[in-house]
Amino acid sequence: MEYEPVIGLEVHAQLLTESKMFCSCHANYAGAAPNTHVCPVCLGMPGVLPSINKKAVEYTVMTALALNCAIPEFSKFDRKNYPYPDLMKGYQISQYDMPFSHDGWVQVEGEDGQASRVGITRVHLEEDTAKLLHVTDENGQNYSLVDVNRGGVPLMEIVSAPDIRTPQEARFYLIKLRAILQALGVSTGNMEEGSFRCDANVSIRPKGREEFGTKTEVKNMNSFRAVQRALEYEIKRQAEVLNGGGRIVQETRGWVEDRGITVSQRSKEYAHDYRYFPEPDLPPMVLTREWVDGLRDRLPELPDARRDRFVSEYGLRLEDAALMTNSRATADFFEGTVKLFSQPRAVSNWMQSELFRLLKDGEGDVAETKVTPEMLAELLSLMDKGTINARTGKEVFEEMFTTGARAAEIVKEKGLAQISDTAHLEVVVADVLKNNPQAVADYRSGKGNALAFLMGQVMKLTRGQANPGVVNKLLRDRLG
Ligand SMILES: [Zn+2]
Repeated sequence: MEYEPVIGLEVHAQLLTESKMFCSCHANYAGAAPNTHVCPVCLGMPGVLPSINKKAVEYTVMTALALNCAIPEFSKFDRKNYPYPDLMKGYQISQYDMPFSHDGWVQVEGEDGQASRVGITRVHLEEDTAKLLHVTDENGQNYSLVDVNRGGVPLMEIVSAPDIRTPQEARFYLIKLRAILQALGVSTGNMEEGSFRCDANVSIRPKGREEFGTKTEVKNMNSFRAVQRALEYEIKRQAEVLNGGGRIVQETRGWVEDRGITVSQRSKEYAHDYRYFPEPDLPPMVLTREWVDGLRDRLPELPDARRDRFVSEYGLRLEDAALMTNSRATADFFEGTVKLFSQPRAVSNWMQSELFRLLKDGEGDVAETKVTPEMLAELLSLMDKGTINARTGKEVFEEMFTTGARAAEIVKEKGLAQISDTAHLEVVVADVLKNNPQAVADYRSGKGNALAFLMGQVMKLTRGQANPGVVNKLLRDRLG
């Protein structure tokens, strides 16, 4: 039986506001001691009143506009009740039936450059929960600690329609979404730090059937790659269950990264009744058309537009431009380098092959490397002028990446400058030809790859520093 996967993603992104959602505590709690960013409001004390963070509303509506959503005129907050110890008040302030936005879409390009549209069901605003830390003491006693620093931080939820059909498309959707949030400056989009979290709903159905199968919800992925792998695993698992005559149980499953599997966490057969009701302590909101239009006018250049500009302004191929704009930091790095070294294709190629490789396949953050656009431009200039060859360039780049030293310094210190001096290279070439009579004979009998072998020998003797163009010419001249 051939199955078609149906995937929908829920993303929670912390907003980069100064203060929390309903109180004036600092929202940036990174590195702070537990329970130091708290006040009676976010601790859920009796008798306190929340007040709405206007910036958070602005950021949410900006995101919704960037995702082509409709913005209704009226909106409100609701209480979502559920019993869990990370909720200080016993409920979370969220949005139920009147969110800030609904019915948008985002364009996602696959690896083949083929574009598809993924629907956005809604973008709404809520507050983050406190963090629980589960501990086992020396007597084997289990207990939990609560850190409320995270409690009350503005949290935007972006719900996609079940339009995604492959795990890879899910990853590309997330990359595009992150790039949009970064371009807007509303979230860091950092998955490893937990400021950008993704839950995936996935089901499978026989190919050609309209009706959805029973879905499971997969949680605990902390990288884009993990989302793709978890979905691949879950789709395969569901197909095996169905092929074995079983049925899929609606449940939440957790991704276990080091084992590469999902495990059942809790059954959702009897869906939670969250008992939503309108938040009585906050007034309903009116989003005037003037205010919404003002935000729309102030939207910055978004990733799709920036990608298209990279094609028209720098002559990049579409797929290269897409890679150069998959995060704001990457795009800024590219443009910063091109300003100083005006060969955009060379910059893009180098970033894709060398920088991305060192950054764990492009999942690492360009903004966190020791290499700056100035430093890369300098390295590319040294290669362009012939001071070092491409092979040495890679070596120097790795050193720059690890130590943060400048290319010229590394070249000088390690004596890596390219050898273009013909007299010097002639001696080496003569030596190589004398010591490799078999390869010389092979070349003369028409075996072209013998030349590559001889080139390799010259490179070896010059520690990779010979100018390949000069060596090639010398070898061909000598071999006649
Ligand atoms: Zn507070």
